[in-house]
Amino acid sequence: MKIIKPGSTIGIIGGGQLGRMAASAASSLGYHVHIYTDKDDSPASHVTDKTITASYTDKKALHKFASHVDVVTFEFENIPHESVKVLEEHVPVRPSWKVLHVSQNRLREKDFINSIGIKTAPYKKIKSAKDLRSAHKEIATRCILKTVEMGYDGKGQFIIDDDTDYEKLWDEINIGTGVLEGMVKFTKEISVIIARGIDGKSECFPPSHNIHKGGILDTSVAPADISDKLSDNAKKIAEKIANELDLIGMIAVEMFITENEDILVNEIAPRPHNSGHWTMDGAITSQFEQFIRAVCGLPLGNPAAHSKVEMQNLIGEDVNSWEELIKNPNNKIHLYGKKKIAKGRKMGHVNKIITSFS
Ligand code: AMP
Repeated sequence: MKIIKPGSTIGIIGGGQLGRMAASAASSLGYHVHIYTDKDDSPASHVTDKTITASYTDKKALHKFASHVDVVTFEFENIPHESVKVLEEHVPVRPSWKVLHVSQNRLREKDFINSIGIKTAPYKKIKSAKDLRSAHKEIATRCILKTVEMGYDGKGQFIIDDDTDYEKLWDEINIGTGVLEGMVKFTKEISVIIARGIDGKSECFPPSHNIHKGGILDTSVAPADISDKLSDNAKKIAEKIANELDLIGMIAVEMFITENEDILVNEIAPRPHNSGHWTMDGAITSQFEQFIRAVCGLPLGNPAAHSKVEMQNLIGEDVNSWEELIKNPNNKIHLYGKKKIAKGRKMGHVNKIITSFS
């Protein structure tokens, strides 16, 4: 498999903050970066050589993009199969379509995870109010109904309990196909980010402890304060998933830890992840550098933490606190260059260094 050497051009699908930070890491390693996005003035376009702005289904534009880059990867995974095929005709696409396909759809994702012997919350496919009623009776706890595709940051999620009027809700939400999940009584939410290279070797970052507010990640503390046994088990789960997917690149595996220390996988994302932003200031290799190394076939870097970090997202108006936060010399501020502040919009993050291990 081909090594993509510094001096080459990396194509990134998606122009958000993950693309921006990955592009900066790529630039430090001597790569050029082209972005493909369907949005104007994207955060990644501010720091890259070239941006193509077109729809993710515009075959002509995809074709042009692919013919100018040496490898393609993603910071946004919801692009159709036919579009990936166009890209694959020209360049290596890492990770492969298979990885995207599994993670694009919550049902496929959970079926796959269970099929390799890893646990998830109980779940059922929902196509009607009748399905919703019977699945809720069967799972027999408070549940969350989620859209099967395109849901993120808690969007497209609805709580189902004994008071729910199934018919009314189903009519109102109009989601086509859904997945009903039993609500997990977790003691902690963690995630493991794993990179796997072209030689099949992989490296996991220490798990982070993630705290969500309203379905959106608020804070990650890493390395998570969990036992070595739990940490090893969580890493083994991430390794198993990465190996089974024959991953080249990076995935983030979000997990719930239950009271009896069971680990259930919530979802996987085939790219760097918000819960890995702490690595920019707390690990020997940042998740973005590791991502570029994996995608380009370079040896992976050391993922060990050199510091304990609390990463706090700056969401919406929170971003205005940067001026106060930056006064603390142990705070590292990362802003995404987004002009418009909106409720729930991720504008930046701060890595607060809690302790240094050296
Ligand atoms: P998701 O979009 O699936 O990552 O969900 C966003 C957040 O909602 C998760 O990080 C959890 O905090 C919460 N959540 C989602 N699914 C469940 C579940 N089955 N049980 C408990 N909490 C959940």
